[in-house]
Amino acid sequence: MTVLKLSIVVTIASGLLTASMLFNGTKPIADYDLIIRHGLVVNGSGQRAFYADVAVQGDRIARIGDLPGARAKRVIEAVDQVVAPGFIDMLGQSETYLLIDPRAMSKVMMGVTTEITGEGESIAPVNERLIKENEDFNKRYNLSVDWRTLGEYFRRVEKQGMGLNLGTFVGATQVREYVVGFDNRPPTPAELEQMKKLVADAMKDGALGISTSLQYVPARFAKTDEIVELAKVAHQYGGIYATHQRSEANALDESLAEVFEIARRAQIPVEIWHLKTAYKKNWGRMPEVLKRIENARAQGLKIGADVYPYIAGSTALSACLPPWALEGGTEKMLTRLRDPNTRESLKKEIATEQRWPEWDIDWRSRQSRSGGKAGQAAFRDRG
Ligand SMILES: [Zn+2]
Repeated sequence: MTVLKLSIVVTIASGLLTASMLFNGTKPIADYDLIIRHGLVVNGSGQRAFYADVAVQGDRIARIGDLPGARAKRVIEAVDQVVAPGFIDMLGQSETYLLIDPRAMSKVMMGVTTEITGEGESIAPVNERLIKENEDFNKRYNLSVDWRTLGEYFRRVEKQGMGLNLGTFVGATQVREYVVGFDNRPPTPAELEQMKKLVADAMKDGALGISTSLQYVPARFAKTDEIVELAKVAHQYGGIYATHQRSEANALDESLAEVFEIARRAQIPVEIWHLKTAYKKNWGRMPEVLKRIENARAQGLKIGADVYPYIAGSTALSACLPPWALEGGTEKMLTRLRDPNTRESLKKEIATEQRWPEWDIDWRSRQSRSGGKAGQAAFRDRG
């Protein structure tokens, strides 16, 4: 009944307003740019959902509450709708695609307004050799790479505009590729110094911290010591360490030990991306994994983790090959795949149990929900 009375009051008020406009011919002054009315507000603070109007002025929320008399240039009726702040995608991969289609509709239409990216590899720093590695892709999408540093990339996206807020890590693998290339060897002391300098530069340009995606090549070629050295630099600038850890499956224990070691030695807060216990034999191990994380936290390490809210995953087909087949870059991999003898030994190796720590992708974990046909679920448990 109260709601009914209220709606009558609003109608009368609007009627009077319209009449006064007709009489004096002036435009009414709006209180706000936008009011979203009658929605169920979920504000992300953990507070219970509540019904309210949300008034927006410029790019800021100006008022939340019962605003029956307030006027706005635009009103959105949100009856039976939830009104929430934009979602933050903790790990997307849109940094290149935003340059091709800045609207980012696939994210925005799901309510994502901020994306964090830069998983092991990042949009910068790049040099001529790395740009050449991506030449085919860039040509296909008519993409000119006119940045070398993260600061230059940010200036490029700011100039052209985009539909999302974007934050990125600088990839530990990115600086390795920049300096060492795709070879399976440790950096020389001089090379490590150069890598540290590149991390420092990216941090000054606004990187959120340093990241790895250690399941893949050439990330896998980096030993723990190397990551610790780079993480120390990121930490000096207030950054954190985010990781797709070295194993999300059979060697999860060893992998978590490495995560904790990096956190301890570099004194850096850590985010474990898409925490999981992949492959059937590891299913059900999550309580034990969470216990280990809780223990590490109890010892003073700052460890966080996130998950994606679905059970499927995906990865590059090349990730199903053992690291030696990928060493040296794409051209070398293709040359190996063209050789009949190498193909035979690859087939044999893929069919056998994998060796930790060299390799952790198990193509046999793929499962299909479509009766054996290659389908959308062909590569479950990847990420
Ligand atoms: Zn990942």
